[in-house]
Amino acid sequence: MKRFETDAIVLSSCDHGESDRLVSFHSADFGRLRGLAKGARRSKKRFANVFEPCSLVRLECREKNSYLWIEACKLVEPYLPMRADIEKWAYAALFSEIVLAMVPEGEPHPAPFFLHKETLDRLERDKDPQHVLLLALLRFQLLMGYMPALDGCAICRRSLKTAQKWFLQPAQGKLVCIDHFSRDSGYIALDIGTLALIDYMRKIPLEKTWRLQMRREMRAPLLTGILDWFRYHTRKEIQSVKVLEQIFPSCGIWSSKVDGAAGRRRRLQTQC
Ligand SMILES: [Zn+2]
Repeated sequence: MKRFETDAIVLSSCDHGESDRLVSFHSADFGRLRGLAKGARRSKKRFANVFEPCSLVRLECREKNSYLWIEACKLVEPYLPMRADIEKWAYAALFSEIVLAMVPEGEPHPAPFFLHKETLDRLERDKDPQHVLLLALLRFQLLMGYMPALDGCAICRRSLKTAQKWFLQPAQGKLVCIDHFSRDSGYIALDIGTLALIDYMRKIPLEKTWRLQMRREMRAPLLTGILDWFRYHTRKEIQSVKVLEQIFPSCGIWSSKVDGAAGRRRRLQTQC
């Protein structure tokens, strides 16, 4: 029987049996974790308000018979001001959904956890939360190894500095020049400055990420591309985009569906 403590962010929770709750966490020391909180539905005292999604907690767990039992859970930061702002809350929920699907269970990889925690801190206090979300998602793709080399065309090897306009296919992780771009394959058009900024993120520590400024007109194509990347790898829709579609009904970033090739084509026509 193994006992351990770790900082963690609550990802989701659901009822389990008559009296328990099954909770997923993004932990600092063990990647994604799933544990049972025995009696959590009956006893409100022992686990009072600690399993709200996006809360930062201190977990005490016990591993027995290949199950994880939550012994204690202490609320460290509930991010209450962020919860009161529906736009910020939707971005935090979107980031958590992506973590839930992409971070492996039980594998120590602290960098994505610290990115997640910093993202919640920044969303709470930054005046441009959509930009925070974009920087966080790009950094997450880099950390998880999904960002391709951004030094030139993946097909003809033409170098980045030989052209201003480039085409990134986030789902399959491919950057190509204008000669090798195909309209039907989920490419987004990006300028050389934006690509250089994304590449620069590989070389800087997390705290400097938030100082980067993505050009405003590049933000929508990048967010669209990241959502396509997620849908391609998980074959899932992100539930929190439904809230974002209601907040921003005509912005067109959040509305593409799984395998929505027609939607992608429409967006490309407006971007290129
Ligand atoms: Zn090329």
